[in-house]
Amino acid sequence: MSKFADIRKELHRIPEPGFQEFKTQALLLDYLSSLPQERLEIRTWRTGILARIKGTAGKRRIAYRTDIDGLPIEEETSYEFRSLHPGYMHACGHDMHMSIALGIVTHFVLHPIEDDVIVIFQPAEEGRRRRADDAKRGISGLEAGPHPGAAHRAGIQGRTAGDEAGHPLRQHVRAVHRSEGEGRARRLPASGE
Ligand SMILES: [Zn+2]
Repeated sequence: MSKFADIRKELHRIPEPGFQEFKTQALLLDYLSSLPQERLEIRTWRTGILARIKGTAGKRRIAYRTDIDGLPIEEETSYEFRSLHPGYMHACGHDMHMSIALGIVTHFVLHPIEDDVIVIFQPAEEGRRRRADDAKRGISGLEAGPHPGAAHRAGIQGRTAGDEAGHPLRQHVRAVHRSEGEGRARRLPASGE
């Protein structure tokens, strides 16, 4: 498990703006290429990645979406893994979402189920409010990356269920961004570390 914690810290160091997530995409692709490839299909579009793990029957498709971009916030923490990119920070937890997504890919590559599992690494979630609408067409269930709430204590992730239409989660995300998005951040969202 410490492997994914380490990957999260590596990702935390390199927050990038929407559609410029080049280092992030390279790191993600590098990890994905280290997995057994027999059941794995990787596609990229711009700085996004779509990973499909072929199920044993392949009747349905179940997806998890993670956002991959950082926020235009100066990180003022003293963590040894703080942002190396001046003016940008993973202050919204996308570094955690990506690590979770890599864990999900790893699990289902090693333990395939009947259904196809699709993991969407979505660029430019912040600001432009883009969603992976094209990518999720025809998907039976979509679980979006959980956004931490400022009200939650360390180690607790809040999420809003039923995001098929996007609205409950969208409201939650806005609330989080309002509370964290002052342009500077001295702590990480709801994570302690
Ligand atoms: Zn976000």
